[in-house]
Amino acid sequence: MEVAVSKGLTACLLLSPVLLQAKVPVSQFDKPNIIVILTDDLGYGDPVCYGGSKLKTPNIDRLAAEGIRFTNGYAAASVCSPSRYALLTGEYGWRKKVSILPGNAAMTISKDALTLPMMLQQCGYVTGITGKWHLGLGDGNVDFNKEIKPSPNEVGFDYSFYYPATNDRVPCVYIENGRVVGLDPNDPIRVSYGTPIGNWPTGKDHPEMLKLKGLNGHNQTIVNGIGRIGYMTGGTKALWKDEEMAELFTGKAVGFIRKNAGKPFFLYFATHNIHEPRVPGPKFRGSSECGVYGDIIQELDWSVGEILKTLSDLKIEENTLVIFLSDNGPRVAEGYADGGLQNLNGHKETGVLRGDKGTLYEGGSRTPFITRWPAKIKPGVSDAPIGFIDLFASLADLLKFKLTAGQAPDSRDGLAVLTGKSRHTKHNEVMMQDNGVNIAIRSGYWKFIPKESKPQSGKDELYDLKKDVSEQFNVAEINPKIVSKLRLRLDQIKH
Ligand code: CA
Repeated sequence: MEVAVSKGLTACLLLSPVLLQAKVPVSQFDKPNIIVILTDDLGYGDPVCYGGSKLKTPNIDRLAAEGIRFTNGYAAASVCSPSRYALLTGEYGWRKKVSILPGNAAMTISKDALTLPMMLQQCGYVTGITGKWHLGLGDGNVDFNKEIKPSPNEVGFDYSFYYPATNDRVPCVYIENGRVVGLDPNDPIRVSYGTPIGNWPTGKDHPEMLKLKGLNGHNQTIVNGIGRIGYMTGGTKALWKDEEMAELFTGKAVGFIRKNAGKPFFLYFATHNIHEPRVPGPKFRGSSECGVYGDIIQELDWSVGEILKTLSDLKIEENTLVIFLSDNGPRVAEGYADGGLQNLNGHKETGVLRGDKGTLYEGGSRTPFITRWPAKIKPGVSDAPIGFIDLFASLADLLKFKLTAGQAPDSRDGLAVLTGKSRHTKHNEVMMQDNGVNIAIRSGYWKFIPKESKPQSGKDELYDLKKDVSEQFNVAEINPKIVSKLRLRLDQIKH
């Protein structure tokens, strides 16, 4: 182990593979490849291995069967941006008031922060992102026609191929290493989230041009027959086609793995699926028994299968830690009238959990959560409560990287839980956040949503998740001491 030589950053920086081989008999498994598959809006009840029995998710199920399937695994928030922020920085999104960002938002990650991929770079990893970013770009006045900085490349990724925000927000283009892919300089991109810009048709004025009817503000500039949130014009040749996204991003992920198979690599595969608009490729359209919602999950499962197949083909699956997550819970009927809700056919996207995306109830942030590392992890099921914000400190522990004060400030070591060696972390605690600064806490089996966080009852809510996983019985009034203790704990965490 590297720890036998020295500790922390110094160890990671100084011990190049050559030095390691020369001085220390290091097991080939000390430094696994790491792949985080972060799905978008996948629900706790969606994969078959989590109860989605009408669907076909053989690849996610295989991952679960060969690794640990967590039944109490949590995203860091119940919406995209704060959750992703927490994953990559180890800091709760609410501390920096990170909420769902528009496509022209400034970079949310401070230039002084140590990010998860930066830590891994310092430990000798090649790092890459493919898929969704949604953490802001540039300094607040991003020009998509020039090199974009800061971008993922400035916060720890050696390679990046991504889209700026969400697949329902403009600009609908891909960016590779800071440059819009396929941009014609004679057709510059302009973006606005306020006043309409350019003269491209909008969903509001031209509903006859839409292939998906937009709801709740998804009726601004039409790109690829779909009304988006926000206005854009220009970049015609660079515009994406939703039908091709899964194949494209999966191909980029596979390409990154193949290119870097000979060294330790970190791949952050942030899939666009299953976020709206749900537009599966032709192979998956109509493939499930649960309408488009099921089709898109089955397309996601195919992407997972391509990653697993690649690891197997390259004979690197033994030494690759795959971590499968979702950034928040699902919302079947959100921005488009795609028939998702009407065709669920009994499928329950959050299983038995209450609430969904955007809420502080369990369905908002308890999500599929799987770790697989054949060389080190014994397959099984774990009911240990674990939040994915703890990945940062856990991977630091794995790699003997010493985090200093201020680095990944809210991430705590859960390595023993993630590798199946323990059933609980020392802190035994998970925090939840909505699309704002409202927070809730789970401590052991107690789940507390203070009245300040605006739960549905308008009062303090306390649930005993051991007896009441569906959060049906608010027991706050008969447990005042527990309420006081958890309120105090929330105050401590906030300050
Ligand atoms: Ca999401």
